[in-house]
Amino acid sequence: MAGSESTLTPMMAQYRRIKSELPKDALLLFRLGDFYEMFFEDAQQGAQLLNVALTSRNGIPMCGIPHHAVNSYVGRLLKAGRKVALCDQTEEAKPGKLVQREVTSILSPGTHLDDRLLVADRNNFLAAIHSVGAAFGLTVVDLSTGDFRVTEIGDERAVLGELDRLRPAELLVPVGNASLRRLLGVGEETVDITGPLGRLSAGGIVIGYDDWTFQAETAPFTLKEHFKVVTLDGFGLRDRLAATGAAGAALHYLGQHLRRDLAHLTRLTFYQVTDYLVLDQICLRNLEILEPLHADSARATTLFGAMNRTVTPMGGRRLRDWLTQPLASVDRIRARQDASEVWMRSGHPLDEFRTDLREMRDLERTLGRISLGSGNARDLVSLRDALLRIPGLRQSLESTIDSDPDRAGLLRDLASGLQPLPELLDLLERAVVDEPSLALKEGGIIREGYSPELDEIRGAASGGKEWLAKLQQDEITRTGIPNLKVGFNSVFGYFLEVTKTHLSKVPADYIRKQTVASGERFITQELKAMEQKILGAEDLGSKLEYELFLELRERVLASLKICQDTADAASQLDVLASFADVARLRGHCRPDVADEGVIDIREGRHPVLEIVSQAERFVPNDCQLDWVTRQIMIITGPNMAGKSTYIRQTALLAILAHTGAFLPAASARVDLMDRVFTRIGASDDLARGQSTFMVEMSETANILNNATRRSFVILDEIGRGTSTFDGLSLAWSIVEHLHHQVGAKTLFATHYHELTELGGSELGSKTQSGCRLARVTNHHVAVREWNEQIIFLRKVLPGGTDKSYGIQVGRLAGVPRPVIDRAKTILRILEDTELNLQAVMGGAPEGNAAFSKPIVNRPKRSSDRDRLRVLQPSEQFDLFRDLTKGGSVPDSGQAGSP
Ligand code: ADP
Ligand code: MG
Repeated sequence: MAGSESTLTPMMAQYRRIKSELPKDALLLFRLGDFYEMFFEDAQQGAQLLNVALTSRNGIPMCGIPHHAVNSYVGRLLKAGRKVALCDQTEEAKPGKLVQREVTSILSPGTHLDDRLLVADRNNFLAAIHSVGAAFGLTVVDLSTGDFRVTEIGDERAVLGELDRLRPAELLVPVGNASLRRLLGVGEETVDITGPLGRLSAGGIVIGYDDWTFQAETAPFTLKEHFKVVTLDGFGLRDRLAATGAAGAALHYLGQHLRRDLAHLTRLTFYQVTDYLVLDQICLRNLEILEPLHADSARATTLFGAMNRTVTPMGGRRLRDWLTQPLASVDRIRARQDASEVWMRSGHPLDEFRTDLREMRDLERTLGRISLGSGNARDLVSLRDALLRIPGLRQSLESTIDSDPDRAGLLRDLASGLQPLPELLDLLERAVVDEPSLALKEGGIIREGYSPELDEIRGAASGGKEWLAKLQQDEITRTGIPNLKVGFNSVFGYFLEVTKTHLSKVPADYIRKQTVASGERFITQELKAMEQKILGAEDLGSKLEYELFLELRERVLASLKICQDTADAASQLDVLASFADVARLRGHCRPDVADEGVIDIREGRHPVLEIVSQAERFVPNDCQLDWVTRQIMIITGPNMAGKSTYIRQTALLAILAHTGAFLPAASARVDLMDRVFTRIGASDDLARGQSTFMVEMSETANILNNATRRSFVILDEIGRGTSTFDGLSLAWSIVEHLHHQVGAKTLFATHYHELTELGGSELGSKTQSGCRLARVTNHHVAVREWNEQIIFLRKVLPGGTDKSYGIQVGRLAGVPRPVIDRAKTILRILEDTELNLQAVMGGAPEGNAAFSKPIVNRPKRSSDRDRLRVLQPSEQFDLFRDLTKGGSVPDSGQAGSP
């Protein structure tokens, strides 16, 4: 740093003091007139992050941003994972005197409240993680909504999965917990207490925080003190040291480290991941539950996009939550289904209800802003508008409930959650104008007739203005200047303006103040006296309005918990009403849910494709799976037939059923599952330096190691990333393992039609091995050949295929005719030899005899077509590789055998 203590100006000494009291990793934005300035290292870092000029004064590096644009700059710093402390001037600047300054807020990526950075229907979470013995505690807080949840999880993968699902913007770890840091991949080297350690793979910043705040000697007390309770048992935290530690540390960080007002966090919910269907990040991503796989796709191409008919942002956030954390309890699923069904049957009231509900807008975040002190009078108006709707919403709900009381349990609970608060509503209606100003200290907030004192002050001010109008008229008469005007500016206050042509008529008692282009400005003693009265009254009025605003805010906070409960109920009602609306609109059916391991979907459709696909009508398909005879379904068919679509569709329907939503199907039964696993597509995880095939295999390993009998697995084209025989061998043994060991219901889409050898009793499956697995069935996606063309029927039918139609698909795609013809010739040659599948089944599961011969052991090449027929598979492969490389079959003349 430049400059020793003795040479510091008083302002720099003030800067140093404030900076020294801040968290080390926070950038200090120091208000200096119209700018926020950064100094020293902060300036160097800030200038780089914001791409603004770094300057220097007296050898001190500095960098400034205009105060009116501060939000967008702060947003960029937060996005870059930095913390920002805003230091403001807390008194009017007076010449020659050091102005007082104070840090007014410390913002961080997981705790800021900037509307421009927050996504309306998405939570912004601060998370904290802790471990005690084998247990992991994980907590998330959304300061903008007051959402505060905590869970305890017993294994590493599950805790990473939950983190992936919640995607916090900021995650706290006890800085001394090396094993946790290793688990999160944020290094083990010692670092300063409290500071960024790295980033999560999903992007959130990881912050090391003081160990003691997580510990049993501290964390429970932090929580008890905040919630004003003597025991945490009521939160479900009894003997849950890991969860308690995480939640306590998060509160400590918010309150002590970031100095935030936490009155808003009125509840803490403990949940267990086992109460829900577990969907990991791979599954959420592959099935495009919330985000499309390709960033350029429209949002509607996600399950969320297709299902979202909510009418408020809080409903949107709730739906995201339900889609990523579906239920795993028959009763709870049925309760949601019942709620939607009651509405669907009662028809008309649903539309009315949703129209009214829309007016509740983002009550959750409105309450957040009010209670965190960042709210303004517009938030009071929003609250008023929300409260205004409640009696009507309740009434509408009650008549819906009366139409089918037996099924309306959940609706009844939620209806009682909507609490009208008539007194608060009346107060807000009387007190606040309809369109209050955004600023809090400039008046324009309070309605006339609310405060007699304010009305009197306002009377004085407006009386003064009438006096001014009269003065203007009187002076025109007295001076004979027809266009004399009373004006006002912030520098000189009120003045009399006279244009150049009339300057000669100005009387002697006018005092000249300012020359402007068009003329001159004057004041009089009389005018100044009145000015003081008017401005004094206005100033007094604004001050009083601000006080009244704070009073109103206190009144709201007294009912905060009730308002939050209302918002909570409203958001759930929004999602349930959205389910009902979607079901009605698109003819979805209510699935039966039980716990016997059955899936039986008739005429199921893809929930997203059925609405976005315009090119062709969506063809419905059935799917039947169980634990007895139909555990694994192998689906073959040419490229483009619809295999991937079918298996994704089934997984999506299974997930939807667990959320309590209705399904695009003629009828459906979907029994409870514990997890959905997917292995789909080829997506290089370049960021982590893994190849496509490595990603494919590690995802597969995860499935084979963690799936249970109650899981649902979809596998798409396993083994495609390696050579044909490698791939087929892997695919084969994976099916065997799932069948013998895991027992999970599985859909396996593959272009290896050889796998149909594993299939069981389906009619029409051609097998030569006779070594089938009892619970494996073969299906194929039907196509029809016509005039050398291929027509996709999109129908999934029993039985396998023995043909890949790759050449026909190539033709469809426009591969040149000679290449297609040549490929056909080669195919004929290759098809004349068949794999020795008998040997595979004979040796299973230990050895795959047919493929055990190493491919590196290059056989002699042969040009003899008769000989080709008896080649071993590995030899066929080599030959095929040569054929495809060289472009011609070596004939007798040129066979260059080694
Ligand atoms: P595969 O995995 O067999 O190569 P896909 O599942 O990718 O084939 O399907 C190819 C295309 O066919 C999809 O993009 C979709 O537009 C269309 N499609 C698939 N299934 C259906 C269906 N049941 N009805 C209508 N179109 C479908
Ligand atoms: Mg596919």
